[in-house]
Parts: sequence; structure tokens; C-alpha cells
Amino acid sequence: MVRTRFAPSPTGYLHVGGLRTALYCYLFAKKNKGNFLLRIEDTDQERFVEGAVENLIKTLSWIRLDHDEGPLLDGSEKGEFGPYTQSKRTEIYKKHADELIEKGHAYRCFCTKERLEEMHNAQEKNKLPPMYDRTCAKLPQSKIEEKLASNTPFVIRQKMPYELIKFKDLVRGNVQFDGKIIDDQVLIKSDGFPTYHLANVVDDHSMQITHVIRGEEWLPSTPKHIALYKAFGWEHPEFAHLPLLLNSDKSKLSKRQGDVSVESYIEKGYLKEAIINFAAFLGWNPGSGEEKEIFTLEELEEVFSIEHIHKAGAIFNIEKLDWFNWRWQKEIFNKKIFPLAKEIDEKVEIDLSRKDQPKFAFTSSDKEEKFIEEKGKILLEICKKYLDKKYLSDKNISKMLVTVEEKILRDAKEVSSQIDFYFTLPNYSKELLTNEKMGVDFSWAKKSIEEAQKNLEKLDNWNIPEIKDVLTKIVERLECKNGQVFWPLRAALSGLDFSPGVFEIMYTLGKEKSLQRIKKALEKL
Ligand code: GLU
Repeated sequence: MVRTRFAPSPTGYLHVGGLRTALYCYLFAKKNKGNFLLRIEDTDQERFVEGAVENLIKTLSWIRLDHDEGPLLDGSEKGEFGPYTQSKRTEIYKKHADELIEKGHAYRCFCTKERLEEMHNAQEKNKLPPMYDRTCAKLPQSKIEEKLASNTPFVIRQKMPYELIKFKDLVRGNVQFDGKIIDDQVLIKSDGFPTYHLANVVDDHSMQITHVIRGEEWLPSTPKHIALYKAFGWEHPEFAHLPLLLNSDKSKLSKRQGDVSVESYIEKGYLKEAIINFAAFLGWNPGSGEEKEIFTLEELEEVFSIEHIHKAGAIFNIEKLDWFNWRWQKEIFNKKIFPLAKEIDEKVEIDLSRKDQPKFAFTSSDKEEKFIEEKGKILLEICKKYLDKKYLSDKNISKMLVTVEEKILRDAKEVSSQIDFYFTLPNYSKELLTNEKMGVDFSWAKKSIEEAQKNLEKLDNWNIPEIKDVLTKIVERLECKNGQVFWPLRAALSGLDFSPGVFEIMYTLGKEKSLQRIKKALEKL
């Protein structure tokens, strides 16, 4: 059975790189009907952060990457291979380190910090790589016992085999390292705690991990691990090293926590579906010929494969995350409004020819109005927390939101500024009512706005189809282009260069307010 693990050091937040590793481990396990483990690698006691593990479990679970084995929020754990927290396994590592000493694959090193420093300085001077010189590997047994008896502090070092270490990485292919130039890694520190290397290998073996999927920064550690597996007489798991994450300028991904912590994206309001979808594409794609980019977690479980992980570094592009978020907002929104439209009007026709902008043709304007109202409520849910309190209680708020629907789905935070013009007409200059390209000068603007004023005043049923009808007839009468009537009117109603369409604004503002704004425009002209 496939068994993968996500093995973070709890730093207090989940790095996007960590999220990607967790996701790929999860997907690979699920695709192969295996288990996904969470293991906490907290052997570095100096870096202990209060609440970090709880936070990690919460974030992973929020994003739906629930583990099959590992620690749980209430302090218990599930799975038969625990404990899954390394600080609870210290004895296990000690026992294994002793076994390595006995077999001659590790040795106690009593060198003081000062001696090591001196040695490194000399190496630097002679342009040699900084490596332990194995002085303590040559200590006679009697000397070792003497030092132990006098409680001289020591670390345990791995005795790297002087040989070529080769392995096949599932992403990078055949890889080899020369053991001769790899330092004798510390396995147990003087405080008795293991280093990452020993703990990681012992745990991956005893937890029966079949596939180690992790970031490329761990590739240089892999030969040390392979040497350890060999020293213990164990078979090593398969390795897959994921490409580095890079900033857009190809430098290593920024370390500032606010830019890389998954929690900060959650706080900013990104959807979990978008975050997952985005993380999946950081160094992977579904293969050539596949154009689909929007995948649910379940769909990713189906299509994920290690073969399609890239070797080259993956660019972390925030615009791409925004794009996924927008697509997912839309996806979720459409899933709600399609059935809603059908519920309101069985015979509604939905035109999907423009995938991004479905069009609804209702059989009556009442039904359309009802739809707008209900749709507005859904939009309100999306942007409520960003909406200025003073707007929230307006009875027309649903209608207003519908006119800026697309903007809300793109970035809900902008909602207040998008609908502000409904409440306060911006103080615009009269030039806004003209449009040289469309052939609208002051006198034309005046003419078309007056024409609209006259006909709209007579309109009793203030709804979109009727408003549209009135304005289209004016266009016909004046024998001009749509824009020559719509532009000056739209500008008069919104006071903006860019705004929702003229019919929607008029409908939302209502007859009285619309006519007031029209009057105001005429006063300017
Ligand atoms: N504890 C390591 C980390 O924080 C785990 C590396 C590995 O997966 O082996 O990334």
C-alpha cells in the first residue's frame, strides 16, 4: 500500500511550498488508495513555537487535506505507527544511533566548538570544503570510555561511506553523489536530540513510508539518508523531489511570511478551492493536450501523477492565484444561480455561448426581477464583510450588487467603492457627457438626454426590458448609434468613466433618482 507523509517542522504558519508538498503527498496517496500521514518534525527545540502544531492541523483541515494518520487537534492521534511527533520518539532515535555506532556506521565526536571552529578556519584558508576531519572516528576505545566516564559532552556523527551513492528520483531521474565529499553529519546532538536526518530516516522506515515527496532543497540530504538506510540494512523508499518555488524574477521565493503563508491568503479571503487549484499547478500540469485548468480536489485525485511534475523551478505568481480565485468564485456562483433561475422560472432560457457570461431570458419581467433580487442576496453573502455598513441597510442593495456582480466575483474587497456612485453622484465635469470617438458633442449630448428625459418620464413600469425599449426607440428615431444615446445617459447617471450598463443603473436607481440625475446633467449642459 502506498504511504506518503507530510513532515513539516512547526514554524507557526504553513508555507505555500509546504502546502504544495502536502497536496502532492495527499493526491498521490489518494490516487493509489493509500494513506496520507502527517508527522511533526519538531526535534529542533530551539525553534519551538507555541500553538504551531494546532495551527498547522487546522489550516490543513480547512483546506481539506485531512490526514489518515497523525496527530489530532485534541492532542490524541490516529494510526498504528505513532507517536507521529518526533519529540515523543527520542528514545527510538537514541537506540538506532547506538545501533549504528555498534555496526561502525557512526561514532561519538567529543570535539569542542572551539576545535571545530579552528578546523573550519584552517580549511577555509586552504580553500578546502568545510568538513569534519574524523579525528574522533579514530579514537581508541579506552579514550572513548575515559571521556564518557568524565561526562565529556559529545555528538554522534554518521560515518559517510566513501563511495558513489546513486538513486533514481521519480522527478529528476538518475542522481548520484560522491560520498567522499559529504560531511559526517551529526545524527544526535549533544542535548540528546536527533537531527532531522536520523529522525527522518528512522521514521520513514518505521512508519512504512513508500514514497518520500518533498521539496528540492532536500535533494542534497538524500545521499546521507540513503547511506543511513543502507547502514541499517533497510530498503529506502522512493524519492520525488519537487521543483523550487521562485518569485517572478526567478529568485528563490520570498521568505517574508506575509507573502508565503497560506494563512495570510485565507485571511485575505481566497477560496480554498482556488488555493488548492493554484498549488496543484505549482510545478505540475495534467499533461499535454489537457486544457482544463479548473479542478476540484476530487478531480485532482483522479488526474494527478508524478510523471507530470516539472523539473524546472515553478514561478509563484500571485496574479495566477487571483485568476483561480475569480474562476472559482464564478464556478461556485453559477452552481447556485442556475438552479435558482430554473426555480423561479421553469421556462427560463440560459444562453451559455459565452462561458464566462451566461445570459438568462425569463418569460416575464416579474420573474427577472425576482431573480435579480435573489442573486443579489447570494452576492451579498460573498461581499458582506467588505461592505461599508452604511450601505448594508439600503433596500436596493441586492440590485446594486447585481450590477457589479463581475467585479465582486473578481475582488469582493472593492465592493464599496464599486457601488458608491449609487449613493453619491460623483462631481463630474460636463465633458464626461461627451465622447469624441462616438461623435457625441455638447449639443448632441443635450439632445439625446432631453429626448430620454421626455420619454422616461412617461414610463410607468420601471423595469429593464421597458427601459431598454424606450432607449432603443430613441436610437431609432434619432437614426444614430446606440452609444450616442447610451453614453451621455450612462455618464449622467453614474458620473463615471466606467460603470455598469445604462439600463441596469436606471433600474437600480429607480425612476425618481434617475430622472433627478438626468435633470442635473441637463443643467450642466
Ligand atoms: N521537516 C522537513 C521540513 O520541514 C521535512 C523534509 C522531508 O520531507 O523530508 O520540510
